[in-house]
Amino acid sequence: MSKRDYYEILGVNKDASADDIKKAYRKLAMKFHPDRNPDNPKAEEQFKEAKEAYEVLSDDQKRAAYDQYGHAAGGAGGGGFGGGGFGGAGGFDFGDIFGDIFGGAGRGRSHAQRGADLRYNMEITLEEAARGATKQVRIPTYEECETCHGSGAKPGTSPTTCQTCGGQGQVRMQQGFFSIQQTCPRCHGSGKTISSPCGTCNGSGREKHHKTLEIKIPAGIGDGMRLRHSGHGEAGMNGAPAGDLYVEIHIQHHSVFERDGDDLHCEMPISFTTAALGGEIEIPTLDGTARIKIPPETQSGKIFRLRGKGIKGMRTNTHGDLNCHVVLETPVKLTERQKELLREFEALSQKDNSPRAQSWMDKVKEFFG
Ligand SMILES: [Zn+2]
Ligand SMILES: [Zn+2]
Repeated sequence: MSKRDYYEILGVNKDASADDIKKAYRKLAMKFHPDRNPDNPKAEEQFKEAKEAYEVLSDDQKRAAYDQYGHAAGGAGGGGFGGGGFGGAGGFDFGDIFGDIFGGAGRGRSHAQRGADLRYNMEITLEEAARGATKQVRIPTYEECETCHGSGAKPGTSPTTCQTCGGQGQVRMQQGFFSIQQTCPRCHGSGKTISSPCGTCNGSGREKHHKTLEIKIPAGIGDGMRLRHSGHGEAGMNGAPAGDLYVEIHIQHHSVFERDGDDLHCEMPISFTTAALGGEIEIPTLDGTARIKIPPETQSGKIFRLRGKGIKGMRTNTHGDLNCHVVLETPVKLTERQKELLREFEALSQKDNSPRAQSWMDKVKEFFG
């Protein structure tokens, strides 16, 4: 592949600090900025390359994924094939797009065609993403046909060299001034034709099988990250290497927590009395429960941060925080007695009890002069 290593692009070591990466990027950005290089068309490319490298390496999560899985890790600018056409959970996409993007080498001219890459969309829970997990997946895959050993020809016969392309698998077409190389329409690039096809595989040389693979999901993995399993894609044609399997992680929506990087957020309804008088409440965390002391006179919207109760970062090895957002709940279905007490309370209320409402009123008065 032509894609250069991000560390190499920035000229830093693999263990470079965030600061070093920033400095290296700044230097390159200054040097290659298109505005400073109006006469050098290559500069813009180098500028973009550096920018992409910086975008990945300056983000802890993306950098971790990149360190582990290389350019296949995806994310901003990484794998570079955007969001298009993801199937539902657990679905498969067979397709040549992977061959074009990831493993183009070996395709085309050669008779031996590398197997197609395979993508598996895996849904996991937030808990699994946080702790890591091992999952079994059953992968449909094409293996070399046992009857013809991949040749596609009936046993006892053998494929013959394609007459159209002379075995090259490619033909040259004249189009205007240009001569364009195309895949041979007769042999579809294999360079061979089969007069009596193998009955088992109908001449394709491959048979559909299933295999079960164990997928290790590292703790702290993020939504949309891809795990690459080299050689577990489809089998290659005529002895060529197999494609790769990409397991793309989709994290299910959680009923309590929302994730933001390694931090978690949750909403915590508390009663008007608890907020006013203070108290202690129990809240769920990813590994059990925790107690939070609500001080008296707590306002709606206050955030209580529980340090280290978030998700352990894939690279940093430190835990994020859990942020509990307090929401005051207005009591409903009040009895007559409760209403009576509240009215009594209201009658006893003073300006000092509601400083925010008071200051708001003052502003309104000012506004209307
Ligand atoms: Zn066969
Ligand atoms: Zn041909």
